Amino acid sequence: MTDSNCLFCKIISGGIPSYKVYEDEQTYVFLDIGPVSKGHYLVVPKNHAVDLQSGTADDACYCLRTVHKTASVVMDALGATGYNLGLNHGVDAGQEVFHTHFHIMPRYAGELRGFTKLSPADHELAEVQQLIEAKMKEAGLWN
Ligand code: AMP
Ligand code: ZN
Repeated sequence: MTDSNCLFCKIISGGIPSYKVYEDEQTYVFLDIGPVSKGHYLVVPKNHAVDLQSGTADDACYCLRTVHKTASVVMDALGATGYNLGLNHGVDAGQEVFHTHFHIMPRYAGELRGFTKLSPADHELAEVQQLIEAKMKEAGLWN
């Protein structure tokens, strides 16, 4: 189930490039290009649904399974000591991309900051992606 007009469906199919973090049969994971913290990433179901409530409960569970699988590896890769997990459901909650996605925002000791977006350069995002890819490979989680 894909929507040819959907940005995240295009990312999942490789039509638009992304900084890949992880992938399995049901989910695709990539860095947010407008992160609020270093390593901020998105977990999306491969099945298109405009939001969590429109998708299946199974897809919601697959996404949380992926959060559980990936978050420790990402924290380890980047030296993060915690993370925030978020989901914006609907325009009034600030949803901008209408394909279900969970935000995972790594946090760092002594750097408590809010949800203001950073503006990393491409090479900074690429460096973060490489650190994560290396740890995913060590953990046997890279496909
Ligand atoms: P939301 O407001 O929950 O819909 O979040 C959408 C998120 O997608 C924002 O944090 C954007 O920075 C992020 N985003 C938009 N376009 C891309 C893209 N091409 N690659 C990665 N993240 C993106
Ligand atoms: Zn989609």
